[in-house]
Amino acid sequence: MVWSDELLRALPSIDRLMQDAAFGALVARYGREPALDAARAATGSARAKLLAAGSQDEASAATLVEMISPDCLAKAAAAWLEARLAPTLRPVINASGVVLHTNLGRAPLGSAVLEAMAAVGSGYSNLEYDLEQGRRGSRYVHAEALLCRLTGAEAAVLVNNNAGAVLLVLAALAAGKRVIVSRGQLVEIGGGFRIPDVMAQSGALLYEVGTTNRTYVRDYVHAIDENTAGVMRVHSSNFYQAGFVHQPTLSELVEAAHDHGVLMIDDLGSGTLLDTAQFGLAHEPMVQESIAAGADVVTFSGDKLLGGPQAGIIVGRAELVARIRQHPLIRALRVDKTTVAGIQANLLHYARGEAEQNIPIWQMLATSLSTLRRRAERLIAGLAEVKALAELIEGRSMVGGGALPEQSLPTWLVSLTVDSADALAARLRAGSPAVVARVHEGRLLVDPRTVLADQDDTLIQQLCLALRGEADDATPGTR
Ligand SMILES: *Cc1c(COP(=O)(O)O)cnc(C)c1O
Repeated sequence: MVWSDELLRALPSIDRLMQDAAFGALVARYGREPALDAARAATGSARAKLLAAGSQDEASAATLVEMISPDCLAKAAAAWLEARLAPTLRPVINASGVVLHTNLGRAPLGSAVLEAMAAVGSGYSNLEYDLEQGRRGSRYVHAEALLCRLTGAEAAVLVNNNAGAVLLVLAALAAGKRVIVSRGQLVEIGGGFRIPDVMAQSGALLYEVGTTNRTYVRDYVHAIDENTAGVMRVHSSNFYQAGFVHQPTLSELVEAAHDHGVLMIDDLGSGTLLDTAQFGLAHEPMVQESIAAGADVVTFSGDKLLGGPQAGIIVGRAELVARIRQHPLIRALRVDKTTVAGIQANLLHYARGEAEQNIPIWQMLATSLSTLRRRAERLIAGLAEVKALAELIEGRSMVGGGALPEQSLPTWLVSLTVDSADALAARLRAGSPAVVARVHEGRLLVDPRTVLADQDDTLIQQLCLALRGEADDATPGTR
């Protein structure tokens, strides 16, 4: 009891703590008032622990002495502040080798895109203003000319994301009417997003045809009645069917739909403007191909294989896009000005024929094996001082983002053999910046393909910290 009372008296005062350099750093980062609150919280909980320890044996005295040191109190205060004030969204180094990792924010943005977003975001813009006429304009006309040029469509409109695009298209063109979809395409995209549920929300009446593995044109034709708005094709995104399977081609579906006077709606999911076959992958359906095949409306994401900011893109016949623009839901799904700016800058890369050079996801997909090998070797060399068992091994990178689920690209990996790969992965995730790697058969795997080239040195530093098993005290959110 005696030493506990002594320690209570030795607990530094708030004033004393606030003079401490460690608390000075917290003031600089979070401001004076929050740092004061944190100092009170830290000393408060230390005091409570001292009181509770009053009756315990003296062996714990040393830990309690340590606990009331300014350093330890500053650490407790930093944790308190971080839990309350630090941004929860922060940069992560993606060493997983999944290029379009939905959980890690999908497409990283290139510099021209970010500059365009900053230019529009930092000031005013003609978002909804007609500069020629000097009066109100529409936010739903931006990027249209570019999209039409790139896809061959008559008209285009941007919304918040592709799930929103599907919802809006169906609400505007098919509410209360039958929309025919193959049983093989009623997919769950992930995060609980299921095509049948979205269709139901739109008010369209989903009509399933065919079987899980085989659907024929005649299945669709038999289902078309006088209350049918259209036929819809949904990209299977994240799963792959093989074996005794059949789906009609888009051209066959377009012909059947148009012969019977109904619409052909094509939800491409990812969609791409570049041919993925040139990167050694299977051919992912291209937006231009859907338009050329005669689809009336095509929907796709801005941040999957397009490689830009999150958005849903609707392209198609002018008269239909005009109806979509007039539907009240568009207001609820409207696209932000920085997104419009980013999408435009991203599309310009395609128009200029420089997508592969300037859009990060294409750069990653196009990185040569020799470059990947050189980077992996450099990472390994950077780990020499921690004497980890790091080896160069062959592996595969994934596309992700609901595109090409069965496809992967050869890569070179850094394989780390440690006592517990899971524990190492957890330490990497706890770092600043956090690193997300892959654990496979008890080894931790690092794929340089998805690590931005300027992050290699930071990655080495984070790997060294994690391998030494040291806590990473760097301030969160720094790069
Ligand atoms: C990914 C995907 C969506 C949803 O797109 P988001 O941009 O994530 O909203 C819709 N349909 C298909 C087929 C998809 O693959």
